[in-house]
Amino acid sequence: MRRSTDPQVIEQYAVDESNTFFAERVEAVVFPESADDVAEVLRAANASGTPVTVSGGGTGLTGARVATCGGIIMTMELMSHASERAGFEPVAGEHQGLEYTIALDRDGQRAWCPPAITLAALDALLAPELLFPPAPTEMSAQLGGAVAENASGARTFRYGATREWVEALELVLPTGEQLHVSRGDVTAQVRTLRFASLDGTQHEVTAPSYGMPATKNAAGLYAADGMDLIDLFVGSEGILGVVTAALVRVTQRPDLVSDTAFFATEEAAIAHADALRDAARQGAPIVSIEFYDPGALRFMADQPQVRPEHQAAIFTEVAVDDPNAIDLLAEIIEASDPLDDWFADSERDRAAQRDFRHALPENVNTWLRAHGTNKLCTDYAVPAEAFEAMMDAYHEALARFLEITGRPDESAVLFGHIGNYHLHVDFLPADAAEEAAAMEQYIFLARTAIGLGGTITAEHGVGKKALPIGGRPVPYLELMYGPEGLEEIAAAKRALDPAWILNPGNMVPGGCG
Ligand SMILES: Cc1cc2nc3c(=O)[nH]c(=O)nc-3n(C[C@H](O)[C@H](O)[C@H](O)COP(=O)(O)OP(=O)(O)OC[C@H]3O[C@@H](n4cnc5c(N)ncnc54)[C@H](O)[C@@H]3O)c2cc1C
Repeated sequence: MRRSTDPQVIEQYAVDESNTFFAERVEAVVFPESADDVAEVLRAANASGTPVTVSGGGTGLTGARVATCGGIIMTMELMSHASERAGFEPVAGEHQGLEYTIALDRDGQRAWCPPAITLAALDALLAPELLFPPAPTEMSAQLGGAVAENASGARTFRYGATREWVEALELVLPTGEQLHVSRGDVTAQVRTLRFASLDGTQHEVTAPSYGMPATKNAAGLYAADGMDLIDLFVGSEGILGVVTAALVRVTQRPDLVSDTAFFATEEAAIAHADALRDAARQGAPIVSIEFYDPGALRFMADQPQVRPEHQAAIFTEVAVDDPNAIDLLAEIIEASDPLDDWFADSERDRAAQRDFRHALPENVNTWLRAHGTNKLCTDYAVPAEAFEAMMDAYHEALARFLEITGRPDESAVLFGHIGNYHLHVDFLPADAAEEAAAMEQYIFLARTAIGLGGTITAEHGVGKKALPIGGRPVPYLELMYGPEGLEEIAAAKRALDPAWILNPGNMVPGGCG
C-alpha cells in the first residue's frame, strides 16, 4: 500500500471546502486499495494510538475530512473499482481521466459501488435510463463521502436523501474488524443494536435517546426505536467505520421539464411553492422546488432573465413520464400569476436554466474572492408548520446584518430547497467585524430553528464545527442535542472505537485518541 510523508502530498488533503479547518501534525497519507488494506491501517493505528482521518472527495463544508488531530490521513481514492459479485455485471468506464467499475444487477435496480466513485462518475457509468437520485450540488463528492454525510440536494424533495438509497454496506470498524451489513439484517431492540463482525466478535451499541426533528436532517447519529443497523452508519460522518463498498438502489431516470417563475413579492413565490408542494402530495411528479430571495436575484442581475421588479423566484423540475404533468404545471403557474415565467422543455433550455442556477454560487464566490473573506452558510430546516416563523427569523437576521454592512445588494442571499422547508442563508462579510456580526445572526437562526423543532443541519453535517458562544467554542451539535446527546454519541463511538482513533473531532470533541 502506498504511503507518503511528502509535505506536498499531505498538503493536498489538509483542508476541505470549508476553508476553515487545517490539518496539523500529519505523519503520512496512506492509499488503501482494498478493505484488507483499510483494516491493516486501522489495526496498526489502534496498536500505536494514532488518529486516522478518512478523506473522500474533500468537498465537505464542515472540516469533517480534515485531520485536525494529526496522525494518518487515509485517502480512499484508489478504491474506485467494485469487486465481482454473483448476479451482478461489471460496468467499467472512465470519467474525467479516472477509471471506475461498478457492478450492476441484471434487473438494473441495484449497483455495488466502490467508495471512491464520484457521484458524477456513477452517473456517467449508469446506463442513460438509470439514475442514482441523491445529488448534492457538488458531484465530485465520492459515494463514501455521500454515505458518511447522508448527502442530499434539490431532488431530495422527490427522492429523499442518500440514506433511502443505501441497501447494504461493507465497512471496516475502527478496530480493524470487517462488517457486512444489509438492510433488514439487524434491527434495534428499542435503541440497542447487537451484531457480529466477520471474525465473529460480538458488538453492542446503543443509539442516542434523543428525538430527531421531523425534517430532512443530517445532525448527529441517526437514532430511532427499532432502527436498522445500516442507519447507524449512514450519516455517521465516518466516526464509526470506513465504508469500503456500498450497494445502492438506482431508479428509472425521468425526462424532466423545468420552470423558473419570477414574482413581485416573496409571499407570491412562497404561495407558488406551496401550490407545487400540494400538487406533489396529490401525486404530481414534482422533483424539486427551489427558492431565490431578492438578495439572491440581485446577485444574478447579470442574467438576462432577471429584472429589477423581480423580488423572488421559484425553480421547479417536473418528471414528464406522466403525460398530464405539463398541463398540471401550466395550470399551477397560471394560477400563481408570476411577473415572468421561463419554461424549459428542450435540453438546450434546461441547460440554460442549470447555468442560470449556477450563476448564483459563481457570482457569490467571485465576490468573496474579491473581498478575501469566507461566507457563513446556514443549513437549517424546519417542519412545515414552522416555516412561516422561520422566514420571519430570516428576515430579522438579514435586516440586522444589513444594518451592519449597509450594502443592500451585496450583504446576504437566501435560497434553496423550499420544497423541504430547507433554505440556506449565505452571509457575505467583507471584513472581520462583519464576520462577527454574521456569526451573531447565524447563532440566532440556529437557536430559532431548534426552538421551532427543526435541525441545524439538513444536509451538510456538523463535522468539526463549533460556535463561539459565551466566550467558548460550543460544539455545534450541543446546541441541538445538549451535552447529554453528545455524551450518548460519544458512548456509541466508544463502543466501536475504544481507542478513539477514527475521525476524531467529528460530531463530538473528545481528545485526539
Ligand atoms: C459547492 C458545494 C455545494 C454543496 N452542496 C451540497 C448539497 O447540496 N447537499 C449536501 O449534502 N452536501 C453538499 N455539499 C457538501 C459535500 O459535497 C457533501 O458533504 C459530500 O457528501 C462530501 O463528500 P466527499 O466525498 O467530498 O467527502 P469529504 O469531504 O472528503 O469527507 C466528508 C466526511 O465523509 C467521511 N468519509 C469520506 N469517505 C468515507 C468512507 N469511505 N467511509 C467513511 N467515511 C468517509 C470523511 O471522513 C468526512 O468525515 C456541497 C459542497 C460544495 C463544495
